[in-house]
Amino acid sequence: MDCLFCRIARKEIPAKIVYEDGLVLAFEDVNPQAPVHVLVIPKKHISTSLEISDKDDALIGYMVQAANKIARERGIAERGFRMVMNCNKDAGQSVFHIHMHVLGGRLLQWPPG
Ligand code: AMP
Repeated sequence: MDCLFCRIARKEIPAKIVYEDGLVLAFEDVNPQAPVHVLVIPKKHISTSLEISDKDDALIGYMVQAANKIARERGIAERGFRMVMNCNKDAGQSVFHIHMHVLGGRLLQWPPG
């Protein structure tokens, strides 16, 4: 498959991997928007959040747990951080393999732009 994040998961394209297990992979965003900006992806290809099915409930919870683990390891858990999953054009989704942005290490504005 030609999906960029599937290729990263298969190690065909290099990435700065910060966490990996059988279900998920986490790596540094190539264009960081905060001092900590990590992407958590499922190894399973799901193109947008709209394609998440009942069968994926545990997997999505697992992604959140992985994001929490990374936030704690990077020292941003207590100060605060943000998990973001963009869906489709108006939200600016540019890679159609779901990913949770884990952002922190600075004061994050709300509402986002
Ligand atoms: P989104 O706009 O929500 O689809 O987010 C896609 C994210 O993937 C962006 O923040 C990009 O900077 C990031 N990205 C694109 N290509 C790569 C790559 N090869 N390695 C790491 N991050 C990437």
